[in-house]
Amino acid sequence: MGGGGDVDGVRAFAHVKALVDLGPRPPGSEALEKARLYLLAELKKAGLEGERDPFEGATPIGPIRFENLLASIPGESPRSILLAGHYDTKLFEEFRFVGANDGGSSAGLLLELARALASRGKPRATIRFAFLDGEEAFREWSGTDSLYGSRHLAARWKKDGTLANVQAMVLLDMVGDRDLQIVGETRSTAWLRALLAQAAADLGHGAKFFKRQLALEDDHVPFLDAGVPAAIDLIDYSYGPPQPGGAGAWWHTAEDTLDKISAESLEVVGDVVLRALPRIEERVLP
Ligand SMILES: [Zn+2]
Repeated sequence: MGGGGDVDGVRAFAHVKALVDLGPRPPGSEALEKARLYLLAELKKAGLEGERDPFEGATPIGPIRFENLLASIPGESPRSILLAGHYDTKLFEEFRFVGANDGGSSAGLLLELARALASRGKPRATIRFAFLDGEEAFREWSGTDSLYGSRHLAARWKKDGTLANVQAMVLLDMVGDRDLQIVGETRSTAWLRALLAQAAADLGHGAKFFKRQLALEDDHVPFLDAGVPAAIDLIDYSYGPPQPGGAGAWWHTAEDTLDKISAESLEVVGDVVLRALPRIEERVLP
């Protein structure tokens, strides 16, 4: 277990628990605003000023007010590495969906990564953090009903020039499964995957990474489409007993609860990202 500049899985898990304790956290809900207040307060404790990025989006259930949360650690270079993950949970009316893994784990680990990185010295490359809202579809996943926060942020950053400096993106999604199996997401950039695979192998976690290959649409796609040269989606798409055509029996069900995830898995993913980061920096800096 790490402290200081290392990722502490127990801390990441405590963040996930705090979010899960708020109940279902779909976009536009009061619980999601409470999640934002929690994330902003924790960022502040880490010495980081969170920025609210609100916007309204048209959804199949009507207009929804979304809000990404952004933070950054300025580096010696404006060239940036973006670490991101969604913090909303999918809207389900027929059961109580608390999204411990799906929406909780990405936000909790991202927060712990922010703390660990902020406690280190000034990085060479600027590190940006994006807690993305509206990853989930309200009805059927489509180009217009999904990825609301990432589509908004990629467009906003393209317009204001920020995106030109974003050289690489590491996306976290469903990174807490106690039986961790990160898929090799095939839209992800090959060199980034190779660096993360090397980092996983260095740390003795190679067997948990990239054994199964799968193309997935996730929050990295709008950034790749907007011109970010490299992005990878770190996602465990085998959550619970296998289900045909799905991500496992606990995915998008009432079973996505804290007992299915572990501090150990969160720490493994966090350690691998931190281990790979200097090599990613080296690759993206001139
Ligand atoms: Zn989901």
